[in-house]
Amino acid sequence: ELSERLSLLSKFLPEDAQFADIGSDHAYLPVSFCQKHPEARAIAGEVNEGPLRSAQSEITRQELEDRVEARLGDGLEVLENGEVNAVVIAGMGGPLIASILDKGKDKLEGVQRLLLQPNIHAVAVRRWLEEHGFCLVHEEILEENGHVYEILIADRHADESLYSEENKEVEMWLGPLLMKQKAAPFMKKWESHLNNRERILKQLELSSQNQEEKKRELTREIGQLKEVLYNEY
Ligand code: SAM
Repeated sequence: ELSERLSLLSKFLPEDAQFADIGSDHAYLPVSFCQKHPEARAIAGEVNEGPLRSAQSEITRQELEDRVEARLGDGLEVLENGEVNAVVIAGMGGPLIASILDKGKDKLEGVQRLLLQPNIHAVAVRRWLEEHGFCLVHEEILEENGHVYEILIADRHADESLYSEENKEVEMWLGPLLMKQKAAPFMKKWESHLNNRERILKQLELSSQNQEEKKRELTREIGQLKEVLYNEY
């Protein structure tokens, strides 16, 4: 059974997607998706031999060799130009996802949709998307096994942007769509972040060290979070 995280992510793939799953590990997502959708085809990319072997044996076990292919290589280098129309990158940190996209951006020419699931620092992914002509069309947040995961779906629409002039920085950080939805896992994640920031600020105020700049920065972050979490946005 596919995890809720990967199953939610794959809901945003077109049924006939020709897609790549980069850092596929066991190839669970491409295998499960291609089992359900006979038109779909996938390439499971892996930079490490161990996970590549896991991917290969899962593909063989499910008899999907004709539609799912595992390839060894770094990031998007496993792809030929124009071979896929969607790319999934899940279960890594935001900065790593952004660097994989950036290193391989030549391979993204025919790609209409990116399906990304950064474990941390989603802001790095949002920033890359905004700078490279991809527009967020969905953002999801979910909690599974005690972890909160964010899912970002972006389409190639060079001229559109979801961000406002005044609040771009906060929107990039928290997610322009997530901060409107205010789903329970979003509130939980950022309330806990807020509590943590308030605790640090209190400690700094009690300490004798002069850390004015750090305090100003924390005060600003706390203000921004409170506004998003507790006021109409
Ligand atoms: N995508 C799966 C998921 O979300 O459950 C597996 C995530 S696993 C934590 C991350 C995988 O990415 C590892 O198998 C690792 O070998 C692979 N990986 C890391 N950097 C990579 C890169 N530059 N290119 C391809 N695969 C990479």
